Amino acid sequence: MNVKVRFAPSPTGSLHLGAVRTAIFNYLFAKKNNGKILVRIEDTDKERSSNESLIEILESLRWLGLDWDEGPIKQSNRLEIYKAAADKLIDEDLAYRCYMTQEEVNLLKDKAKAENKVYKYPNTWREKKENPNGRDFVIRFKTPYQTKINFNDTLRGNITIDSSTLDDFIIIKSDGFPTYNFASALDDAEMGITNIIRGEDHLSNTPKQVLIFNSIKKKLPNFTHVSMILGKDKTKLSKRHGAESINSFKEKGYLPISIINYLARLGWAYGDQEIFTLNEMISNFSLDNLSKSPAVFDSEKLSWVNNIQIKNYPNSELKERLKLEFIDGVDEELAINAVKEKNKDLNELQKSLNFCLLTNESYENELINELDNQAVSELKKFIIVWEEKKPKEIEEIKEVFTNYLNENEIKMKSLALPLRILLTGTKSSPGIFEILKILGHEIVIERIKKFIKNNEK
Ligand code: GLU
Repeated sequence: MNVKVRFAPSPTGSLHLGAVRTAIFNYLFAKKNNGKILVRIEDTDKERSSNESLIEILESLRWLGLDWDEGPIKQSNRLEIYKAAADKLIDEDLAYRCYMTQEEVNLLKDKAKAENKVYKYPNTWREKKENPNGRDFVIRFKTPYQTKINFNDTLRGNITIDSSTLDDFIIIKSDGFPTYNFASALDDAEMGITNIIRGEDHLSNTPKQVLIFNSIKKKLPNFTHVSMILGKDKTKLSKRHGAESINSFKEKGYLPISIINYLARLGWAYGDQEIFTLNEMISNFSLDNLSKSPAVFDSEKLSWVNNIQIKNYPNSELKERLKLEFIDGVDEELAINAVKEKNKDLNELQKSLNFCLLTNESYENELINELDNQAVSELKKFIIVWEEKKPKEIEEIKEVFTNYLNENEIKMKSLALPLRILLTGTKSSPGIFEILKILGHEIVIERIKKFIKNNEK
């Protein structure tokens, strides 16, 4: 059978790490099995759903490169389909209209609370034949009495639930919108989803969805409920743990592959390997290797993964992604290689490259203004030798530079530091020999001359 999975976000906020990890597992599973991916927008909670959130979620998925084959399909555009399906269930005596008012429900809830019981709808309208016209109603599913509900979960094996633990749950709300359990199960059945991979928080919904599948006589898909992601203190992951929306990770200079690698590895293992390319993840992915126990989010490890992925990232793609525009004559490859080693994120990396980018002509700053007369006179002497010798390759640069220091009995630091500041505007740039090579002879001379001129006035 051809594999078809779905990613079904509710547009009630930005895309969070847990949801992204679910999307990643679906993606890897589909790609591994030459399957198809459908995106379905579960926007049946009118109050909480928003278009901004929908746009942000889709943008984040696209940014991550988690592309899909079908959709996005919005459930709010399919209301007629859910209504017709519910009406059919009523005709078949598998569902019914319930006219219980909100006040009546509230009274029952208060009563249960006073008696220290959990509220459960008492199936009041299950067998009633009257039809109070004009009154609001919901449609409830007739949960069969004394039935075992069975399904299989990849990670947990066979699960059996007694139907007495469920009530006659609502499938269509009074506003005409379907509930999540109804719309989701109906769509999964109709859209031919073969594998449902989602968060463990939905495990308690699955028996209701199994009942829906059974009622419309559709074969159950395979279920895989993946463990939750927790913060280091073992509580539910939140902003407090540094886990924000994907958008914020994008802004903080993470590469999509770093997020995919880190999240996939969180709860999925392939030996001890930590760093993966996308293709490696796809070819080695298996649902059986997912962990049942909760995963713990570690922002430092994510940052470590990002650093390594940045190092592995092709320079040409990095240049394109960051829209880097180098000053003419700069050794671009060396510049990128030099800063890649040190930087944990793309923002830092871009900042470290400022000294050789067109976009930052004014790399000069207070540090340069603070250089003293001593530095000016050092550089005046240095530039004479440098102009004359014109060293080009890194070995030559090293040699001319070191000879100059030795012959003039100057300490490395007394020349390298002012020169580094002058050429890059920072104290923490690549090594001085690399800077000289990256910028090239002409830019170096030009910058030193300009500095001397400015300080002679
Ligand atoms: N819309 C649900 C959510 O965002 C997903 C439900 C599912 O995957 O079945 O949590």
